[in-house]
Amino acid sequence: MTASGRRALVTGITGQDGSFLAEQLLADGFEVHGLVRGGGRGELGNVAHLRDRIAFVDGDLLRPDTLRTALSELRPDELYHLAAPSFVPDSWREPARFAAAIVGATATLLEAVRDLSPGTRFLFAGSGEMFGEAADSPQTEATACLPRNPYATAKLAAHLLVGELREHAGLFACSAIMYNHESERRPPNFVSRKITRAAAAIKLGLERELVLGDTEAIRDWSFAGDAVAGCSLMLRRQEPADYILASGIGRTVRELLEAAFGHVGLDPDAFVRVDAALVRAPEATPRVGDPSRARTELGWLPSLSFEALVGRMVEADLRELGRSGNRRGEVPFAP
Ligand code: GDP
Repeated sequence: MTASGRRALVTGITGQDGSFLAEQLLADGFEVHGLVRGGGRGELGNVAHLRDRIAFVDGDLLRPDTLRTALSELRPDELYHLAAPSFVPDSWREPARFAAAIVGATATLLEAVRDLSPGTRFLFAGSGEMFGEAADSPQTEATACLPRNPYATAKLAAHLLVGELREHAGLFACSAIMYNHESERRPPNFVSRKITRAAAAIKLGLERELVLGDTEAIRDWSFAGDAVAGCSLMLRRQEPADYILASGIGRTVRELLEAAFGHVGLDPDAFVRVDAALVRAPEATPRVGDPSRARTELGWLPSLSFEALVGRMVEADLRELGRSGNRRGEVPFAP
């Protein structure tokens, strides 16, 4: 037990969001437990640097018994349910896995909290993607959802379950409706990291081209560390409620490109090629969230601007590629 005596359990702790959250919870004096397959004996991803400060518990989203055991043994003060498959194109290939891992696991955890640890405050990592082709942009917590892919449909179903169990069973359960949130820990299949990595690689002479899909697509990007800080604020309020955590500003992929390549003094048009195979179905409603409620009721304010976030990611990629390029003894292309 730590000095504060508070205990948190985090699913998805090895991912981008889980790692920022773990760092923040440790700084807040929490005893931090991460639910991972194999109980921490395998890959620790983004929390490898915290391996001596976190306790790991064996758990698998698709094995309800493991989730119930973790809840009954730990009875955490705060439970952050971040684990989920998250890459939208994959959800078309495997809709059943997405439904089971997102809806099934969230239902199991809510049931386990109700039955075994009712004092636990529960946070679900929701997604602004659930709004889909909603009538409004920016979206608020009251906007009606029209999801357009299996990932979004699963996130919506889990989001609704959180509200239902809050009402019906009196749980302190909240859904954080997060929009695109990024960092140097984002996997490179997401467009932000794909772009910052390419800007760094081209600057270093390691690559010559960046192949993208729709560069006019609009997203609302913010810093992952800010998003998870908002999640903790939600659990420490008097009353449970759902909040949109977003920047409130829509930007195109092109704007992200210009920020990243501009950071290293390059013109993206000289390097970018569009591949129709990467272009997704057209979107009529810009995916932009209105964070007014979080600002007013939680006092939540993002610490990093869009430009600062992109700059931070490019700098991290320059460092990482610089190191690995040297290690492999590669000879860079002439820039
Ligand atoms: P998502 O919003 O969770 O699907 O996050 P992504 O980072 O995967 O995609 C953000 C937006 O960038 C979407 O509108 C994509 O259509 C667009 N985009 C354009 N080119 C690419 C690309 O090469 N890869 C990805 N992942 N997205 C791209």
